[in-house]
Parts: sequence; structure tokens; C-alpha cells
Amino acid sequence: MSSWTPTDSTASARKPSTRSPAAPPGFHAWQDPHWLVHCHDAAAFIGEVGYTELAAHPEALDQLRQDLRMGGWHHVDHLEEFLTHLGQDATAMLFRCTVCGTHLAYADAS
Ligand SMILES: [Zn+2]
Repeated sequence: MSSWTPTDSTASARKPSTRSPAAPPGFHAWQDPHWLVHCHDAAAFIGEVGYTELAAHPEALDQLRQDLRMGGWHHVDHLEEFLTHLGQDATAMLFRCTVCGTHLAYADAS
């Protein structure tokens, strides 16, 4: 009967501003030291180590290698070179699980 058709063009043009909660100012995940977790608990930080110390804990070296591979290190040669040079440009942060005793590590380039 009527030629009037509802339109939402004005309504959609005036959306209330919905802001997702902002991250805290100055938050940079990559630069923040992070704590490794194993067995659902925070691992104990042992220290900053180079390749020699890391190689003494093969499970930590393996775990770091896998992490880096998942992080985009697809060239095994580059990856191994990076790992063997740890302690120079980059270092590894070594942790030990307080539950099972497994060593864990992450690389830090700062
Ligand atoms: Zn564990």
C-alpha cells in the first residue's frame, strides 16, 4: 500500500563509536621480557646464556629451534647459524621447569 520503505542508511552512518579496549601505552610484546611456562607453571629463570651453555641442555636447544622455526625461520642453515652464534648478537634466556626439570629457552636479540 505504501511506497515508504524503511531505510537504515542514516542509522548505519551514525554508528556509535565502539572502541576495543586499548593496549596499555608503551606496550610492546616483542621487547618485553617474557616468562616461560611449563607444566602450567612459571619456569625458573636461570640466566642469559650463549650457545655453549644452551647446547648443554639439548631439550632447551630443541625447543628454541622449534619456536624459531614456527616463528618463520624456514632456512635450516640460517637457523643453525643463528643458534650457534647465540651469546654474541643475540642471547638465549634459559629457564628450567620447577615441576619436571625440563630446560626451556627463548632467544633475545636486544
Ligand atoms: Zn615441566
